[in-house]
Amino acid sequence: MVIVLFGAPGVGKGTQAEILAQKLNIEHLSTGAAFRNAIADQTPVGLLAKEYVDNGKLVPDDVVAKIVEEALAHAAFTPGCILDGFPRTKVQAEALTNMLQRMGRRIDCVVNITVPDVVIVERLLARGRNDDREDVIRHRLDVYNQETSPLLDYYGSAGVLRSVDGLGTVDIVNQRILDVLPD
Ligand code: AMP
Repeated sequence: MVIVLFGAPGVGKGTQAEILAQKLNIEHLSTGAAFRNAIADQTPVGLLAKEYVDNGKLVPDDVVAKIVEEALAHAAFTPGCILDGFPRTKVQAEALTNMLQRMGRRIDCVVNITVPDVVIVERLLARGRNDDREDVIRHRLDVYNQETSPLLDYYGSAGVLRSVDGLGTVDIVNQRILDVLPD
């Protein structure tokens, strides 16, 4: 099962990906977490990504696609995986389709988690990560609206998109997600 958790920053993708991964017993990949780890470890990818992540800008598509392709090739992903924070652009979405096709797989479900912007800003300010400053949050929301939200049409036409209300407790939202996943 290949599941994409989709939505603006702060809708709860990371939290939900972790719980789903446990419940469904499949791996999850957060590209944001991969970059934060690479930055902390000062790897070549981390050194390149730091400027982008700190300022809420998208890391270049080829760098992101390479990380995802390497992770998907890893044996642990064989039963499937949950992608959190990828794809974020049309180029990334097409790269994902192609890499899955080469592996004889396809996306089973894109779960779009929706939360109003005012709540997103509150949540992210409360989380207080390095890139959770108000100006950077606003920029990340703009980037989402301009570059990422058009993918809703792409996946809508592909027939794999399901939308879920992201307001409510973590458990309630998790149940809503489980309810829309294919069997
Ligand atoms: P996230 O943890 O998903 O909020 O991601 C944090 C930051 O990592 C983003 O603001 C980007 O700078 C970078 N990032 C994560 N995923 C991607 C992606 N798919 N494409 C480009 N940049 C990404």
